[in-house]
Amino acid sequence: MRASQFLLSTLKETPADAEVISHQLMLRAGLIRRLASGLYNWTPTGIRVLRKVEHVVRDEMTKAGAMEMLMPVVQPAELWEESGRWEQYGPELARLKDRHGREFCLGPTHEEVITDFVRNEISSYKQLPLSLFQIQTKFRDEIRPRFGVMRSREFIMKDAYSFHATQESLQQTYDTMYQAYSNIFTRLGLNFRAVLADTGSIGGSASHEFHVLAGSGEDDIAFSDSSDFAANVELAEALAVGERSAAAAAMKQIATPGARSVDDVATQLICQPAEIAKTLIVQGTHDEAGQYGFVALVLRGDHTLNELKAEKHPAVHSPLTFATEEEVLSATGANPGSVGPVALTLTVLCDRSADLMSNFYCGANENDHHLASVNWDRDVTATEVVDLRNVEAGDPSPCGLGNIVIKRGIEVGHIFQLGDKYSKALNCSVLNENGKDQVVTMGCYGIGITRVVASAIEQNYDDNGIKWPASLAPFQVAIAPINYHKSEKVAAACDELYQQLTAAGIEVLLMDAEKARLGGILADIELVGITHRVVIGDRGLDAGEIEYRHRHAAENEALSADNLLSELL
Ligand code: ATP
Ligand code: MG
Ligand code: MG
Ligand code: MG
Repeated sequence: MRASQFLLSTLKETPADAEVISHQLMLRAGLIRRLASGLYNWTPTGIRVLRKVEHVVRDEMTKAGAMEMLMPVVQPAELWEESGRWEQYGPELARLKDRHGREFCLGPTHEEVITDFVRNEISSYKQLPLSLFQIQTKFRDEIRPRFGVMRSREFIMKDAYSFHATQESLQQTYDTMYQAYSNIFTRLGLNFRAVLADTGSIGGSASHEFHVLAGSGEDDIAFSDSSDFAANVELAEALAVGERSAAAAAMKQIATPGARSVDDVATQLICQPAEIAKTLIVQGTHDEAGQYGFVALVLRGDHTLNELKAEKHPAVHSPLTFATEEEVLSATGANPGSVGPVALTLTVLCDRSADLMSNFYCGANENDHHLASVNWDRDVTATEVVDLRNVEAGDPSPCGLGNIVIKRGIEVGHIFQLGDKYSKALNCSVLNENGKDQVVTMGCYGIGITRVVASAIEQNYDDNGIKWPASLAPFQVAIAPINYHKSEKVAAACDELYQQLTAAGIEVLLMDAEKARLGGILADIELVGITHRVVIGDRGLDAGEIEYRHRHAAENEALSADNLLSELL
């Protein structure tokens, strides 16, 4: 692509209404433009990145045995009445009427449509298992669209659905999809975690969310530093309260490192009834100056530490207690003044409903009144909330569960064993081996394609712009000429390289726009995040050298002009 013929709409200033870095950079690099709240245009640059995400997702879904199809955005109300969701879904479902007064909705997801499709297409258990997917526009009338395409109203999702005759078959496909998701996010160069999710109102027996780890994430995720346990915070909270079967399943999961599904974990239940007091053991760190840190647990809501200590929070029935410095030092073997982890114990007696896992704050000393501004909450680790009856004082890990690290995550994918919720309601059945009608069992598997683009930026940027993982960059190579329109030699060298790279199937952007100055060209290349860049000028050409820089490198390299192509490829 030649920049003179390409719409590269970069902005110098950071738009005032963009809060998170990915939203700012997507606007500045000219990937998206806002149409209305939660609605975005994808520019020619943006769509190139989007298609790369789609390519990886499509490839791995196909490898996982799913077939691509395409369903309509507009869905008839009748199907949603059959599933019961026309009533249940609430205002996120955008409803409309056609000219004949028939009711429709804009699909926020496609369980109803796919179940209707499959019930009409298949009749025998021999046609199962069956996995289908689409990459398509969804609409959800989000109450608070924000962060650009991270939480928009119209967005692109890859949604897949699987159909089975048995639970074993569903489990098998679920495991295959879990692996496919891991492959996808690895290929996209993302730092992600798969976490157990609550199966909530849909029911079903297993669910995992895939989270990209980023401070700007809207979800808290909790994972163990010494086992494979990881859960979203809703489940972690359920786990802390110990009252739901999902929590019990998760607790079993911790006891069996490496286990993923509820079915293949050990049978013992560590979960305790939790209507009584709990102890939370929290670990903090020294700050760099060797200042002694303490950690406080704050229940959800803006209650100050002093309020909690004075039992003024409605859920708190006892003062918070803190370990003394001596106790901590003797328990951890840490040296006073050293930088490193220390364990601090605090005890809170609270209602079973209290929101224990949500907020941790640290301060430099016990009387620090600016807890919220000392923003260490993301770095603090906490062990499980445990039943006091089983705790012997100072035993930091009575359940042997390791430490739970709490981090922020962006939900980019979600897989779910639906069971027969939709197939039963819509009567999607097949003839089984005995010639009898049998309702099929389903799984569903979503990835937020547009959200993935924003998430990748949240993890890959610097002061100058986006540092795409190689699989996502809109162009692989940028050619930056010095005086393209004044030096015939420079123009000829750039054109030749451009043609060679293009012929080799490399996506290249030649910055040949008239009046473009080198400083501006280089700033644009860095902002947009093109992986490789070469600067071609008369002086370099005379010396037989081309200036090269990888987007992730801090320094230029000199490449030989003669072997440039082979060095770049
Ligand atoms: P969230 O918790 O962020 O609202 P969700 O749990 O409602 O997401 P799912 O129904 O699991 O979303 O949909 C599958 C995927 O679609 C999500 O994992 C996410 O990546 C993406 N997604 C959902 N809502 C949005 C949105 N408003 N904007 C962009 N992507 C979204
Ligand atoms: Mg949602
Ligand atoms: Mg969610
Ligand atoms: Mg979800």
